Amino acid sequence: APRLVWFRRDLRIDDHAALYHALRAGGPVWCVFVFDTDILNELLAEGLSADRRVEFIHASVSELDAALRALGGGLIVRHGRARGLIPRLARQLGVAAVLANRDYEPGALARDRAVHDALAQDGIGFDTFKDQVIFECDEVLTQGGKPFSVFTPYKNAWLKKLTPFHLKAYPVRTYAGALAAPPAGTIPSLADMGFAPTNLPTLKLPTGMSGADTLFDGFCDRIDRYKVLRDFPAAKGPSYLSVHLRFGTVSIRRLAREAHARGGAGAETWLSELIWRDFYFQILWHNPHVLTGSFRPEYDAVHWVDDDEKFRAWCEGRTGYPLVDAAQRQLAQTGYMHNRLRMVSASFLTKDLGIHWRRGEHWFARQLNDFDLAANNGGWQWAASTGCDAQPWFRIFNPVTQSEKFDADGQFIRRYCPELAKFDKKRIHAPWLATPLEQKMAGCVIGSDYPAPIVDHAAAREATLARFKVVKGAA
Ligand code: FAD
Repeated sequence: APRLVWFRRDLRIDDHAALYHALRAGGPVWCVFVFDTDILNELLAEGLSADRRVEFIHASVSELDAALRALGGGLIVRHGRARGLIPRLARQLGVAAVLANRDYEPGALARDRAVHDALAQDGIGFDTFKDQVIFECDEVLTQGGKPFSVFTPYKNAWLKKLTPFHLKAYPVRTYAGALAAPPAGTIPSLADMGFAPTNLPTLKLPTGMSGADTLFDGFCDRIDRYKVLRDFPAAKGPSYLSVHLRFGTVSIRRLAREAHARGGAGAETWLSELIWRDFYFQILWHNPHVLTGSFRPEYDAVHWVDDDEKFRAWCEGRTGYPLVDAAQRQLAQTGYMHNRLRMVSASFLTKDLGIHWRRGEHWFARQLNDFDLAANNGGWQWAASTGCDAQPWFRIFNPVTQSEKFDADGQFIRRYCPELAKFDKKRIHAPWLATPLEQKMAGCVIGSDYPAPIVDHAAAREATLARFKVVKGAA
C-alpha cells in the first residue's frame, strides 16, 4: 500500500528508521518535508528573518531531495502549517499511512497528536519510530523502575543495556526501489518564506549529509585526543557535529557505533557526551516542569536580578571579562559556542550578574545553530545550580581563572576580541589590571577601547551565595 514518509529532524537517507520501515513494506513511498509556519512565523514575529538554522535546513533539504532523486524518488517540499498540510497531502496521494521518526519536544508532540487525529478521521495511519536517540525516555530506568536524575548511574545503566542491536543501521538503500517520484513542484526559496541569507556559507560548517560526513571523517582522525583537547576552546577538540545531530543529517547510531567500536579514552569520553544527549531528552520527558521552572522546585525561591543593561552587555559580549565576551561574540558571529564556554558564560550570567537562567536560555535558543530544548535547558539549569545533577550552588566559576586555565595563551580571546590582541598572555585575562602604560602599549584603553568589568567578581560571588541561601536546606 502507498505510504508517505514525513521528514522532520532526520534529514538523511541512510540509517533512517521511518524511511526503512516504509520501504520495507513495499511501495510506492513518497517523501515530504514541511517548512512549518508554526515554527518559522515565531522567528519572523521576533524580527529574526536571518536565521542560520533555516538556511542550514534549506541547504540540507535540497541535498536530501537530490539524493532521493538519484534513487528514483524525490522530496515533496511545502511551506505552511504541517498540521493541515500533512493530512491533506496524505489524502491527495491516497496513502494508507504516514510514517515519521519520533520527536520528543512538547510542541512537536502536540503537533503530532493533531496530525494523528486528523489522519485517523480519514482512516489513515500515523506510525512513528525511535530514531534520534539510542534509548528512548523510558528504556533506561533505575532498578526500581524510576527515571534517573543523576548522570553517572544513568550512563552505567545505559552502557549495560547496550547491545549491537541498538547500534545497528537500517539498510535503507537495499529497498530504495520502492521510492516513488514526487508530483511536480519546486523547493520554496528562503526569500519565498520571508527569510534573508545569513553568513552560513562563509562559516566552516558544511551542511547536509555530505557535511556531516566531512565533519565526522575529520573528527575520527582526532578522536583519540578528544579527552585531552575538549576543554580548550582555541583547539580543534570537539566534533562540531551538534547541528547535524539536531537536524538528523547524521544518524546517532552511526556515531555511537563507531565511538563504541573504537574504544580508548578519547572515544569513550565522546560516547559519554552522546549519552548526555539521551540523558537530557529523558529528563525533559519525565520532568516537563523544567521548561518553566527549576528542576528542583525549591530553587524557584532564589531571587534573580532584573538588569536589562547588564543582560544586553552579556548578549553583545561587552561585559569586560574577555573570555565571556569572546564566547558571546563567537555565538553571535557563528551560531556555535564551545562547551567549556557555554558553562563559563552561563555561569557568568547567573552567578556573576545574578540574572535568571531563563533569560540566558532564551538567548541561546535564538542564537545556537544546534539549539535543542532538552540539552539547552539541562545545560542552563546545570550552570545555574537549579537542575538535576547540577553544579553545587556554592561552587562558582571565576571567569578569570577559567580563562587562565582554558585559554592560557589568550589565543581564543584574541580571535574574537581583536582589540585585546596586543595584551600579553598575563594581562589578557583581566586587562583592567594593566597599568595605563601597558594599556597604551597594547593600543587598548580599558573603559574606552574595551569595557571595564561591569561587575566585580568577588562582590558578585558573595551576593550570589547570599541569594542562594534562601533555598531551604541549601544553607
Ligand atoms: P562534542 O564535544 O563533539 O559532543 C558530541 C555531541 O554530544 C554533541 O554534538 C551533542 O549532541 C552531545 N553533547 C555534548 N555535550 C552535551 C551535553 N552537555 N548535553 C547534551 N548533549 C551533549 N547542546 C546542544 O546540542 N544543544 C543546545 O542547545 C545546548 N545548549 C547548551 C547550553 C549550555 C548552557 C551548556 C552548558 C551546554 C549546552 N549544550 C547544548 C551541550 C554542549 O555544549 C554542546 O552539545 C556541544 O558544545 C556541541 O558541540 P560539539 O558537537 O562540537 O560537541
